[in-house]
Amino acid sequence: MSTNKCVRSATVASLREASAKRLSLMADDEHDPEVHLGRARHEFGEHGGINMSIEASATFHVMEPETMRKMFTGELGAAQDHYIYSRHFNPTVLGLGHLLAAMEGTESAYCTSSGISAISSVLLQLVSTGGHIVACNTLYGGTHALLCDFLPRTSGITTTFVDIRDHAAVEAAIVEGKTKVLYFETMSNPTLTVADIPALSKIGKRKGLTVVVDNTFTPMLISPARLGADVVVHSVSKFISGAGDIIAGAICGSNSMINSMMDLHNGTMMLLGPTMNPKAAFELSERVPHLGLRMKEHGVRALEFAKRMKKLGLKVIYPGLEDHPDHLLLKSIRNPQYGFGGMMCLDMETEEMANGLMYQLQNATHFGFMAVSLGYYETLMSCSGNSTSSELTDEEKAESGISPGLIRMSVGYNGTLEQKWAQFENAYAKLQDGHKFHH
Ligand SMILES: *Cc1c(COP(=O)(O)O)cnc(C)c1O
Repeated sequence: MSTNKCVRSATVASLREASAKRLSLMADDEHDPEVHLGRARHEFGEHGGINMSIEASATFHVMEPETMRKMFTGELGAAQDHYIYSRHFNPTVLGLGHLLAAMEGTESAYCTSSGISAISSVLLQLVSTGGHIVACNTLYGGTHALLCDFLPRTSGITTTFVDIRDHAAVEAAIVEGKTKVLYFETMSNPTLTVADIPALSKIGKRKGLTVVVDNTFTPMLISPARLGADVVVHSVSKFISGAGDIIAGAICGSNSMINSMMDLHNGTMMLLGPTMNPKAAFELSERVPHLGLRMKEHGVRALEFAKRMKKLGLKVIYPGLEDHPDHLLLKSIRNPQYGFGGMMCLDMETEEMANGLMYQLQNATHFGFMAVSLGYYETLMSCSGNSTSSELTDEEKAESGISPGLIRMSVGYNGTLEQKWAQFENAYAKLQDGHKFHH
């Protein structure tokens, strides 16, 4: 009897343990964007095709004249599978939107013809003339120019730039009644500092701001909306596309946010017209299913290269390294299946050394390309100070930690890891030889 009881209770205990394990697995899975993508509604092709059809119509006919009136009053819309005109909702673009909404954990999403148009139309939707934005002082150069030069000139919308790691400074910059948006990038460009999205979202919520996060560097790896952000914007031209061939953007947010942007009288997507072409949406929809696999491999390569470059004595900035100031923060907010991202920086201190290394890497050993942009299967590298961050003044560059010799690398996954590493080592050796020779 007693043995039996013992056995039974042991079984019960192990069953409990197994079920707890299963529960924790389920809980973990809910944080994995892949699980949400696996569950997302799939659009099928018109004739039963496994891919969605391209709805390449600019306009849509109705069967009954009355339907047209209802579409224009908003009684019938995309949610009821009624479409008016493709500058407004288009079914194929909406299909890609559904995938990106599932990935980011937002109610809705819609796609634009570029990342910068996603950003500009979100900001113009949320902030009116005379309004104010608080933004991170390290932003993609185009966004910085939009906030710093373009919006003040065209709309009287002003921005205070702060170090978003300093939460007291963020709060101090908020002007009650005037500040509408808190804007930052998940991982800043190019210095790779990580935003504390949960804490910043709390500040935004408390102050009644809309928190808008540019998640271009870290799709799948970080899910800003699941951490409290209101709107997530993407340059789809980068990792999500993955092939360096399409310029595209996306806005992920609530139904009311997306619908307000399509409003016939006041919507920036409707009235400034940056909507995506359905042919581009179709191509991009076929790349989302392997985005997770690609992000994992970008991350594996970047971490390994970062470690090895550091061993060579180089100054490496990579949030996957324990010496990065935001390493623990990134660990605590990321979706752990995807590593630490594919972006890293190498500080060669002078522009001359940075250019020398990039020259060898591209032209002598074929490690990668000297090009801006990111998220490609080949490694892309650029000297940030004179390229993607050239919109910043020298002072602003110094303030945001952009040294003149900073090389930003988007680590690719083509070739084998060892082959690519040998190419890097060779190029570095050539640079050092060249230097000895010159001096
Ligand atoms: C490239 C980029 C943008 C702009 O996107 P486009 O698709 O080029 O318009 C915005 N934010 C970040 C972080 C980017 O890297």
